[in-house]
Amino acid sequence: MLDVLIKNGTLIDGTGSPAAPADIGISGDTIVEVAAPGRIAAEAAQTIDASGRVVTPGFIDLHTHSDASFLIDPLADSKLTQGVTLELFGNCGMSFCAPLIGMAKDQFDDRLSRSGDDLEATWTDFDGYLTALENAGSTINVATQVGHGTVRAAVLGMDPRAPTPEELDRMQQLVAESLDAGALGVSTGLWYAPGSYSLTDEVIAYTQPAADRGKLYSSHIRSEADDLCGLFPAHAEAIEIGRRTGARIQISHVKAVGPKFWGRGHELLEGMHRARQEGIDVAGDQYPYPWSSTGFSGAMFGRWALVGGREKTLERLADSDIRARIRQDTDYYINRNHDARGCVIASFPPDQSLEGRSLQDVADEWGVEP
Ligand SMILES: [Zn+2]
Repeated sequence: MLDVLIKNGTLIDGTGSPAAPADIGISGDTIVEVAAPGRIAAEAAQTIDASGRVVTPGFIDLHTHSDASFLIDPLADSKLTQGVTLELFGNCGMSFCAPLIGMAKDQFDDRLSRSGDDLEATWTDFDGYLTALENAGSTINVATQVGHGTVRAAVLGMDPRAPTPEELDRMQQLVAESLDAGALGVSTGLWYAPGSYSLTDEVIAYTQPAADRGKLYSSHIRSEADDLCGLFPAHAEAIEIGRRTGARIQISHVKAVGPKFWGRGHELLEGMHRARQEGIDVAGDQYPYPWSSTGFSGAMFGRWALVGGREKTLERLADSDIRARIRQDTDYYINRNHDARGCVIASFPPDQSLEGRSLQDVADEWGVEP
């Protein structure tokens, strides 16, 4: 007697085999039989007719920022209805829910107050955070990583300098504790402040505890375009971190941003292929749409303008000379690959009427420049 029989569906089994009609017999939490339609003889407590539908294993979404989402809404309908059954968050150097120490805690409070979500942190470390996630009882499987930007903010604030040996020890200690509490790996966002203030040596030291535990290093690399160090050196840096530490490397949202790099994506794949031949376990992921999506400060501000954190940035904006320099950078970021019509506001909780509109559209209405 089966518990569930799924019949008449088109099976895509995830092995790379072509889609084929199949029936699937399930007992408890295990698939016990896969056969051509009508060939499973056993009775089933529940039968699902999947005619005209595709049956697949659950999707693994390796790149998300749902760190707080499951604490706010554990049902996760938007993911479940897309077929996602495992999410990995804590990407791009941001594990903004833990550890909550120093400026990382301030950033968490700030983020929550601006999003309007009603969530109070009853924890300060990864162990407490993961317990809170477990207690929330999400409908899908979740896993998380320790963000370099978060740990750096916890120890150094938003200072644009290398950590002292003592600070680096403290960062490594926080990473080790978080991994031992259950984090699946570490992540960096080397394009974002404060990750962008680090040198490669620091990232290697940061990654080593993950490598020592056979865990993952994923990276939003230092540049995906022609800013900062540039796309190809940034790509090489991620691979070099794998070479030096032995960590498994995941290059996040692999892309070649801007006309200058269009048509050169194959060179990124070739670089990964060569590294794999050398024995470095490097892989990458991509999102299925031709846009980037990120926070305003990351997308629009020179990194120097973010030094010291949000309050310092606001002070700089209040000084007309410094404001003019910030504005030059912002103009560059708005216009480097398109213009203000290409910058669309995806989320702005204080005034949701702006969502879905371009910067140009809003500027026209307000009678200002983008
Ligand atoms: Zn990213």
